[in-house]
Amino acid sequence: MKGKKFATALNCMDGRVQEPVIKFLKNKYKVDFVDMITEPGMDKILAEGDQKTLNGISQKIAISVKKHGSKIVAIVGHEDCAGNPVEKEKHIYHIKRGKKIIESMNFQVKVLGLWVNGKWKVEIVK
Ligand SMILES: [Zn+2]
Repeated sequence: MKGKKFATALNCMDGRVQEPVIKFLKNKYKVDFVDMITEPGMDKILAEGDQKTLNGISQKIAISVKKHGSKIVAIVGHEDCAGNPVEKEKHIYHIKRGKKIIESMNFQVKVLGLWVNGKWKVEIVK
């Protein structure tokens, strides 16, 4: 895919958060496509996942980074998540912890935390 820019999103499988995350990454980081890796409650899975699960996710990220040249990996949590039904505070903790875990995988990428709020707007988790 020469000339096309990709980002990678580690997103919830929830249908409500796909488009907001894709639009946000396209607008803010000027990418053409977003590779989507999904699980129910992805933020919790990253923060608390066992090594086997994390290895599987790492293999998927590697395809996006090595084959598509993605330079950005976003970790997403959202309001009203059926897969991770906890308070916002806990989601933010999971997102930050997930960021550290993805950073420790040593892909040459920028790792971002994103929160999708109850109005389905995307905010960067500092
Ligand atoms: Zn969810």
